[in-house]
Amino acid sequence: MAKLISGVKISSDIKNEIKEEVKELIRVKGIRPGLGVILVGEDPASRVYVANKEKGCAEVGFLSETARMPADATEEQVLKQINLYQKREDIHGLLVQLPLPSHINKDKILHAISPDKDVDGFHPVNIGKLVAQQEGFVPATPAGVIEMMKREEIKIKGKNATMVGHSEIVGKPCALLLLNEWATVTVCHIETRDLKYHTRNADILVVAVGKPKLISGDMVKEGAVVIDIGINRITADKADEKLLEWRKDDFDKKGATLVGDVDFQEVEPRASAITPVPGGVGPMTIAMLLKNTLQSAKRFADIR
Ligand code: NAP
Repeated sequence: MAKLISGVKISSDIKNEIKEEVKELIRVKGIRPGLGVILVGEDPASRVYVANKEKGCAEVGFLSETARMPADATEEQVLKQINLYQKREDIHGLLVQLPLPSHINKDKILHAISPDKDVDGFHPVNIGKLVAQQEGFVPATPAGVIEMMKREEIKIKGKNATMVGHSEIVGKPCALLLLNEWATVTVCHIETRDLKYHTRNADILVVAVGKPKLISGDMVKEGAVVIDIGINRITADKADEKLLEWRKDDFDKKGATLVGDVDFQEVEPRASAITPVPGGVGPMTIAMLLKNTLQSAKRFADIR
């Protein structure tokens, strides 16, 4: 049986550490870290993510502010809000919740955020710093993946790591972080000819695609470490019998359940360690965002 890597436990440890550091930062420098969030429109998933970020800030003692803008807000209005946060000394990190409505140019918005306050790590300057292994902000989800492995004392150096998915915000930065830890990295995407060949070669398999059951048991090497980033909401009418049975309580309660990209029931017996969905990488994302915001506030404190 694989060791279950609990993102709930690790993220709670991280938040407790942050809480202590916040108390110290307030005591010594009089600075409370602050996170500014911009939410445009009414996307239900985005609203949940933003609410979780606000909750996370409250838990660790950060100031948190959310600018909620209507779905028809103009690009100029969003840029203006970015500038407002940018100028404020009590806001050390700022982010614009994605996705944005289609009439807004995402790149233009992300590039307008000062790299010094870009706690999502999506600005090209921070991406460049990640490539060059310089200190900057690393996107929270990939940073959480590496943090989990380190805290579980999983050796990365010299291992074959396969990253499935090559998005700008998850797959690519995660592949770079694994490379920076001296793994031999393979990156797979929609054009990859023989996905199974690459996944079976992996000592560490990381998956971020958004397709339930993409990774079946026979695609995983015996003893591999499997990190499942995917989040897929399955409603009761679309679930197979096995899943309905396994997640019966969830379906009964909510009429839906969350699964990752990995067929957990097939893969878990083959893996040496595995992250569950939910309760794996998900909670790590908020914890690492808070860590980035704390890092920004600490930098600010040193400049003063
Ligand atoms: P995305 O931008 O849609 O990227 C998905 C990636 O998977 C793309 O690179 C795509 O390649 C690749 N892909 C699609 N089908 C594939 C296949 N059959 N074989 C190999 N690669 C394939 O999504 P994302 O933002 O990276 O998110 C991925 C998943 O992670 C989603 O389920 C999302 O909800 C979840 N997520 C979780 C967290 C968390 O906190 N746990 C955070 C962020 C995202 P092409 O671009 O070539 O099509």
